[in-house]
Amino acid sequence: MQIVFDIAARRAELTPDKIAFTEVETGKQLSYAELNARACRFASWLQGQGIGSGDRVAILCLNTTSFFEILFACGKLGAILVPLNWRQPAPELLPVVQDAAAKLLIHDAENAAVADALNLPLLSLAGYEQAVAASTSDNFDTAWPADRIWYMLYTSGTTGKPKAVIQTPGMAYANAINIGQAIDLTSADTTLNYLPLFHTAGINLHTLPVLIFGGSVQVLKKFEIDPVMAALQNGDCTAFLGVPAIYQAISLHKDFATADFSKVRSWSCGGAPLPITLIELFARRDVLVCNGMGMTETGPTVFLMDRAHAKAKIGSVGKPQILAEVRVVDDHDAPLPHDHAGELQIRGPGVTPGYWNNESATKSAFTRDGWLRTGDVARRDANGYYYIVDRIKDMFISGGENVYPAEVEIVIYRFPGVLECAVIGVPDEKWGEVGCAYVLPQPGGSVDGEALRVYCRENLAAYKVPKHIRIIEDFPRTAAGKVQKHILRSRFSETPS
Ligand code: ATP
Ligand code: MG
Repeated sequence: MQIVFDIAARRAELTPDKIAFTEVETGKQLSYAELNARACRFASWLQGQGIGSGDRVAILCLNTTSFFEILFACGKLGAILVPLNWRQPAPELLPVVQDAAAKLLIHDAENAAVADALNLPLLSLAGYEQAVAASTSDNFDTAWPADRIWYMLYTSGTTGKPKAVIQTPGMAYANAINIGQAIDLTSADTTLNYLPLFHTAGINLHTLPVLIFGGSVQVLKKFEIDPVMAALQNGDCTAFLGVPAIYQAISLHKDFATADFSKVRSWSCGGAPLPITLIELFARRDVLVCNGMGMTETGPTVFLMDRAHAKAKIGSVGKPQILAEVRVVDDHDAPLPHDHAGELQIRGPGVTPGYWNNESATKSAFTRDGWLRTGDVARRDANGYYYIVDRIKDMFISGGENVYPAEVEIVIYRFPGVLECAVIGVPDEKWGEVGCAYVLPQPGGSVDGEALRVYCRENLAAYKVPKHIRIIEDFPRTAAGKVQKHILRSRFSETPS
């Protein structure tokens, strides 16, 4: 059996007095020794409640350092933490907690009403504090089986119903090596944790790798642009890890043109297509944004652009990182040569063993020889740099020709006044399917749909030109700001013209 070690326990021995966490709003700090001691105390309390190996503990809260204490407490017992999406109302969360069959739900004050409606034994964060204070700090085994289920994360739900992706201690270490070497993470680094903790980024980009490398984490209760802008300037963040929607929010901030970003030494972005126009906006502020690609299923880090080639290979997500192996295959899972687009498949120690309680989804997600089918189309160039073309599910066929919406979006982004766009395939009597472009204008601006259509005709093959153009005020989005195209598609079928 492969083992890895309890990160909190090991850090408490190596660097006990170093500050692991600071809460941005309150200034409250937690050293590595305190993190581990509090996690041990809570693990003892959980044990006293009859919670042990394999049991599920759900949590519904905004970002707080307690979340990580609880994550480590569960790890010490072999229990499984299930972070819930606080953007979902109780009726949507009920089937999730039923699927997880949690024995306890921990919640903060902000989510008390929803927690109440979920028919589970509850523990508020105030009650959590009492439990920690009342318990003794027992010792727990610090050797954890690498493939044990530590926690599970529901996927972003960009393409439909989220599935719970199993996350293991082994995946956490593999991801830390992948992201750590990609951005040269050291104990001198501080990251800003501002994305919701029910998605992979908050745990696996902003936090666990930083703890493994002995750095510090600033925890923001939830995303708000002003404290993020402050942290990017005052030294509270040396390595910034974001998603396109956050980069866009920063670019729209009133101080963007004058802000002093010199204390941030590394800027990376992933999780959704990153418009080249946004990379260019940041380049004008001398900020080099490196695009990367990952999935909840892959820990998440797979690709990250290296700084030396970020300009020359703009649009690429870089090369696969050291503990990830990838291939691009045809419809029969046969590897394709460079410059051919096909499905991206991934394997390595950062990849999940599967989906919780969902054998059929797990089975169809992997090839017979263990490669994860990403559902994404990618292409590799002759120098080994990869480009994410689009999601297979989003591709459509117009008059017999394949159209990758992302390719059309890249063109539309260059049209004056466009802030954001999303293209979907919609039914059409003549062509089978045609494109519909949803366009969000820049704040206070407008986009002339007719002029945009002319521009698309000039810059795209005829079958790629969106037949429908709709100017909208905002997109349906996931918590990480990803555009939910399946919702756009159902909206289109409700109001086709
Ligand atoms: P669901 O699986 O529930 O539909 P999701 O796929 O959005 O949601 P995540 O695991 O958060 O859930 O996202 C991973 C996906 O995000 C990838 O499979 C890919 O489609 C997309 N993605 C990630 N990084 C990039 C990138 N740099 N460029 C384009 N797409 C990206
Ligand atoms: Mg997915």
